[in-house]
Amino acid sequence: MSEEKSLNFIEEIVEEDLKNGKYPFIITRFPPEPNGYLHLGHASSICLNFGLTLKYGGYTNLRFDDTNPVTEETEYVESIKEDVKWLGFEWKNELYASDYFPVLYQYAIQLIKKQLAYVDDSTSEEIAALKGTPTEPGKNSSYRERSVEENLHLFERMKNGEFPDGSKTLRAKIDMAHPNMLMRDPVLYRIKHAHHHRTGDEWCIYPMYDFAHGQSDSIEKVTHSLCTLEFVPHRELYDWLIEQLEIFPSKQYEFARRNLTYTITSKRKLLQLVNEKYVDGWDDPRMTTISGMRRRGYTPESIRDFCDRIGVAKRENLVDMSLLEYCVREHLNKIALRRMAVLDPLKLTITNYPAGQVEEVYSENNPEAENGGGTRAIPFSGSLWIEREDFMEVPAKKWFRLAPGAMVRLKSAYIIKCEDFIKDENGIVTEIKCSYIPESKSGNDTSGIHVKGTIHWISAAHAAQAEVRLYDRLFKVENPADEGDFTSYINTDSLHIISNAYIEPSLKTATAGEKFQFIRKGYFTLDKNSTNNKPVFNRTVTLRDTWAKESKK
Ligand code: ATP
Ligand code: MG
Repeated sequence: MSEEKSLNFIEEIVEEDLKNGKYPFIITRFPPEPNGYLHLGHASSICLNFGLTLKYGGYTNLRFDDTNPVTEETEYVESIKEDVKWLGFEWKNELYASDYFPVLYQYAIQLIKKQLAYVDDSTSEEIAALKGTPTEPGKNSSYRERSVEENLHLFERMKNGEFPDGSKTLRAKIDMAHPNMLMRDPVLYRIKHAHHHRTGDEWCIYPMYDFAHGQSDSIEKVTHSLCTLEFVPHRELYDWLIEQLEIFPSKQYEFARRNLTYTITSKRKLLQLVNEKYVDGWDDPRMTTISGMRRRGYTPESIRDFCDRIGVAKRENLVDMSLLEYCVREHLNKIALRRMAVLDPLKLTITNYPAGQVEEVYSENNPEAENGGGTRAIPFSGSLWIEREDFMEVPAKKWFRLAPGAMVRLKSAYIIKCEDFIKDENGIVTEIKCSYIPESKSGNDTSGIHVKGTIHWISAAHAAQAEVRLYDRLFKVENPADEGDFTSYINTDSLHIISNAYIEPSLKTATAGEKFQFIRKGYFTLDKNSTNNKPVFNRTVTLRDTWAKESKK
């Protein structure tokens, strides 16, 4: 797209702030909770946060929001780092909210001293019962008027592990009649005797999200703290805490969560798919995790392009999965090496080709690249594999491929004519017999014959065998998260394995992650499950229906 892109609403805010000299440069952060692998929704947040500082100057931190010891694991930390790097972004500092536990504890003491926080012995049910409703004010807890000394003492004893889980909390003392329910004396700290992936057993009280996130932003002097819309009501508390603690005034801005049709973007639900074995791990190529998309053959460029196209929005909407597929095709079309692979083999014999003869034909590696990306030699012989679907015993209208008496070009080789075919006792075609036109060799065609169809092929004696995995969408409905149990919408036919496809010999040396276009079949990449004897290819995405165009070449 060549038209000048207009600024999104976040860029407008940033430009305004820079123009007014509010900040000399900007600092953003990407703040994942390490409780799962990153998905496409996160990719959009990553592109937004890193994209801003790349555009306007400044830097972006990677901050693990690891304040909930129960669900967080080091495995997730490692995968998140790998995924952000793979997407092509470099963070300035690798930070952990858990590193701020001592500072946050001091902040809590400051609030207690200012009579802005108190220790409450109420259970969570009791706290909820006194919360009120959006239309009715809440009621003060009977522990609200504890003295500063008593609060300091009790809070220290909470930290020292003297009380069981859930028996006490530290709450902010704001206003139990506040119109914003989150401002009705929110809980700041809870007791949790749990092992933390980084701080071990050092702490048994943990700050709540609201007491950790804004303060962490402030400690890092984050200028624009971007989060998704569900945090709009939290902004007031975010600002209140910063103001009362008199610390760097980070500001929160909200944008709409990005969700995609036919998939799930929630770590919790993705975890369920993994745990209940609907998929083969977090990086199953059907998962819209970043690792799944990587394994499927998506490129960082195509994911960034997708995120750029969907941009940021103020309102939630479902983004069409086909836009992502479009972006992937666009990029792979430019970079993928063209190769031949026959996924559903049918034997073809050229009866007038000298028995035992083998010659080399040359084919472009990538017609989209300069000079066709160079050429490769492919062995050609009189005994070939072709795609079963390229032959029709009784041709349909406008059928330009093989049929009795019909002529086609074998890609980069000769024009052939179907002379005969053989069927087995079940009526299944088992072999096609053709003649070839020796003067019709590609690049040196003096035959004067024009054919409309071109088909791909593999020389039988030179073919290598491969497993090919074809993926379909993981869900049968556009919005599986909409209602009910999302697992009931799983497409049980989302993986089709072809265990004996034939591939051209040059593919034997493919390396994991390399991108190919199997001519007329789609884009493929070598899977990590490959062995030397049996390469495994994942179909990244199908081709558009380009057959009509291809056949003119
Ligand atoms: P999940 O529900 O999948 O766990 P989350 O928002 O809890 O998502 P975090 O690890 O807390 O996940 O998110 C890190 C950052 O990524 C946050 O700033 C969050 O707002 C953003 N993010 C998460 N999901 C999406 C999404 N679908 N679209 C845009 N941004 C997202
Ligand atoms: Mg979360």
